[in-house]
Amino acid sequence: MAVQIEPLFTAALGLQAPWTVERVDLDTEKHRIDFEIACAAQRLICPQCGAADQPVHDRMRRSWRHLDFFQFEAWMHAGVPRVRCTACGKTSQTPVPWAREGSGFTLMFEALSLSLCKGLPVRQAAQMLRVRDKQLWRRIEHYVTEARAKQDMSGVRLVGIDDTSLKRGQNYITVAHDLEAGQLLFATPGRDHDTVERFALDLEAHGCERTAVAHACIDMSAAYAKGIGKSLPNAQISYDRYHVVALANQAMDEVRSAEWRTESQRVNEELGHLSARERRSVLWGMRRNPSSWSSTQIQAMHWLQRANLKSARGWRLKMGLREVFAHARTHNDAEQAKVDLKRWISWARRSRLDPFKRLATTLKQHFDSVIRGMLDNRSNAFVEAMNGVLQQAKRAARGFRTATSFIAIAYLRLGKLTHLPASPFVRATARAAT
Ligand SMILES: [Zn+2]
Repeated sequence: MAVQIEPLFTAALGLQAPWTVERVDLDTEKHRIDFEIACAAQRLICPQCGAADQPVHDRMRRSWRHLDFFQFEAWMHAGVPRVRCTACGKTSQTPVPWAREGSGFTLMFEALSLSLCKGLPVRQAAQMLRVRDKQLWRRIEHYVTEARAKQDMSGVRLVGIDDTSLKRGQNYITVAHDLEAGQLLFATPGRDHDTVERFALDLEAHGCERTAVAHACIDMSAAYAKGIGKSLPNAQISYDRYHVVALANQAMDEVRSAEWRTESQRVNEELGHLSARERRSVLWGMRRNPSSWSSTQIQAMHWLQRANLKSARGWRLKMGLREVFAHARTHNDAEQAKVDLKRWISWARRSRLDPFKRLATTLKQHFDSVIRGMLDNRSNAFVEAMNGVLQQAKRAARGFRTATSFIAIAYLRLGKLTHLPASPFVRATARAAT
């Protein structure tokens, strides 16, 4: 006795008249299920001009990959009608309700691929879905572009602008975040002042006046400050803690490497003839927080702290600046922060260590913006968190790491885009309480 499974699958695939499942072929050896879809209509609306009741001219054979049915790879096939319109004279293919025009995947399959790529490296998602990763990249770029076009940015007031590099020290990308919404707004190749103008134009294209941006948190590069001056005229600048402390780390590294290079003998005497491994231990101990020192580093740093070396003074200066920032986080008082920072600047200027003297000059020049950054915990925390997530996005783009693909995956993961297709495995309606 034949069981009528076609109507069942017509319903399961969500098809409506004139579309129905005509035949189902299950191949248990190839783990494949094929649905033959038929369109019963002889007359249809013209897809070009909308004229009703136009004759079907012919049918074009097409196939789409769909979500797996259990362990079976599912495909849909149909002869898609072309309508020859008597009103506009054009012959054109009628759209199918389950797929975008020109796509070889159904909408549900595409929605699933997007939600997988939010959490998995794209190459891995491609393996799971048994497609080429290039096919996924094309879809990510398509949907992200479409969703961004509809995005409303009219409420943006506080922004953070930062750079990240695809390869260590090269291929820079500028990223701009909404610090209140915790959302990536814009990313563009380069890190010169023009990138800020591109961001301002993009804000305007999404309903936000550039003059509405009241605050920008940035690193201490002159390019962004210049760009903000030109393109976001009402934004007050603050320098974020993460980047300022990074500058102190750089100054300390400069002092240490110069001293170890030029006064190797004295360093050896002071530190008691270290092996290469112990030297590395000092180097990393100096960069890391004392709370995360390994036991070897504790040992090594014990000697450094007692040594009469420039490196030791550099390390104390760096720790001192960290302290100023940590203190500001607890008291959150502008006057106290100013007193502490001034004291540090004068210490650094008297240090006879050129990299720290230069840093002191920089901090003095941008004093107010540095103070603002010390007190703005929200932006600091966010910039740091963002750095981690951007690293994940880079890993997600492994094997396909171009600026375009990185930017697309960053938007997908951090853009909080509201117009992306939802995962087919999330219920659109709430499950009834039981
Ligand atoms: Zn027409």
